[in-house]
Amino acid sequence: MSCLHYNGNDLYIENVSLKDVAEEFGTPCYIYSRAAIETNWQAFNDAFSGIPHRICYAVKANSNLAILNVLAKLNSGFDIVSLGELERVLAAGGDPQKIVFSGVGKKQIEIERAIEKNIYCFNVESEPELERMQQIASSLNATVNIALRINPNINPHTHSHITTGLNESKFGIDINDIIPLAKRISTLPSLKLIGIASHIGSQIVHLDPFLQVIDRLLMTYNQLSELGIRPSHINIGGGLGITYHDEHPPGIREYAHALQEKIKKQNIEIIIEPGRAIVGNAGVLLSRIEYLKHTQHKNFAIIDAGMNDLLRPALYDAWQNILPVQLRNTEKKRYDIAGPVCESSDFLGKDRDLALNSGDLLAIDSSGAYGFSMSSNYNSRCRSPEILVDGTHASLIRRRESIEELFSSEIMLDTVQY
Ligand SMILES: *Cc1c(COP(=O)(O)O)cnc(C)c1O
Repeated sequence: MSCLHYNGNDLYIENVSLKDVAEEFGTPCYIYSRAAIETNWQAFNDAFSGIPHRICYAVKANSNLAILNVLAKLNSGFDIVSLGELERVLAAGGDPQKIVFSGVGKKQIEIERAIEKNIYCFNVESEPELERMQQIASSLNATVNIALRINPNINPHTHSHITTGLNESKFGIDINDIIPLAKRISTLPSLKLIGIASHIGSQIVHLDPFLQVIDRLLMTYNQLSELGIRPSHINIGGGLGITYHDEHPPGIREYAHALQEKIKKQNIEIIIEPGRAIVGNAGVLLSRIEYLKHTQHKNFAIIDAGMNDLLRPALYDAWQNILPVQLRNTEKKRYDIAGPVCESSDFLGKDRDLALNSGDLLAIDSSGAYGFSMSSNYNSRCRSPEILVDGTHASLIRRRESIEELFSSEIMLDTVQY
């Protein structure tokens, strides 16, 4: 659900009006609700309270230090996919013993640093990665916890770009290869198999694929048990969808309950890696209309945020609600909401019926996940600031990038004075 509400004709996030935020920090900008993030995290924690569990927030959804710090204070764990994310979590006060490291392409230095910091577990995605892990662990005289990520070949019925658990996907290990690999691990002195994992995709709005995954994980778990290999946890990944439009994703309680039914009384710890479901609906992108452009065929609202700020509509054809920050009782027109970037795919919404004036503010709802974290400098646009709202207070948690920062790391071959 959205974290926005109207107070009279004005749009608010918690007790802060978006108009005031625009005045103070300028547009475009990302705004997050601390209360919404905490409530969403707590909902996971409550739903799984009957089972030993660890919630490892997927950092890539939104990796701002202030957000990670809010979650660290709730004792959250973290799911990381790079050295950069590891350092962010550590800088934000996250507990290394609650970090799991996913990803198909972990480099030597990434593995070394994570071992040095004594993270909880590596989710291994291939045999060569396993061999590399053994080599590094032994050279560092460390014993390293491993979970094997299974590719369960299950279709989550979400967008193909965010489907990760099918046979043709690069992610995970074929389920038929798990047993031989687990046997191999028992011969590798520096590695300890403590879990099996899976993550089949993102923005999944049906319970069924999740249940199928759990069945496959449990089947593998039982096969391993019969061999005397008893991992202590099952990692069911992230991927739980949110409501952007008219989706009805399964409730987290429903999901946790179904899981509990399946694992019964077995003493297995559950790791869950939600990203979008924690932060997605907790943030908005605020933008100002630069021009209203009326043509014979269409009306356009050209706004000051583009695909470099929020890529989801251009990349996945994603639909996000677009709300006027100030309601007007003038007649509505049908608009395409487009950005300033020089690409036809640069739109934030299509065919939206809105009553608009140029200079008005628009809020692109549910932008808290894969919004800022996927933003870029394309068209040499400075990245947006981020603001965290807590009650009546709005704090800047990332400054707007400056033009100077934009090319400060670039090097010309001849020094030119300008
Ligand atoms: C991206 C990712 C997640 C989080 O996915 P959401 O859809 O944001 O919940 C969890 N685990 C892994 C391994 C991922 O790659």
